[in-house]
Amino acid sequence: MEATDRRGTAIEPREIKQEGDAGLRITWADDHVSRYSAPGLRRACPCAQCVNEWTGQRVLKPETISQELTIADLSIVGRYALNFRWSDGHETGIYSFRYLRDLSDPKE
Ligand SMILES: [Zn+2]
Repeated sequence: MEATDRRGTAIEPREIKQEGDAGLRITWADDHVSRYSAPGLRRACPCAQCVNEWTGQRVLKPETISQELTIADLSIVGRYALNFRWSDGHETGIYSFRYLRDLSDPKE
């Protein structure tokens, strides 16, 4: 019955793989492959410190994030999201798979 739920299938990662210290590759259930860099993901952090919860406005200034930023740790939250600990110590962002997929396919 899950096979008929296309939207559900599209946001389910089949493989999550760290590439080096600062790269991440997600292979989705629909065979789409997304690649991310640590600084790019860090700048897109959706947590309440980085985005104003009420207005949705990004508070985090992209230029304050080093290009040298790396992924210190990575864990899966429930079955729906990833949580990163970055080399700058920030670790409050919960990146849902839907959000990650949207980041890689901005036109969708
Ligand atoms: Zn954040």
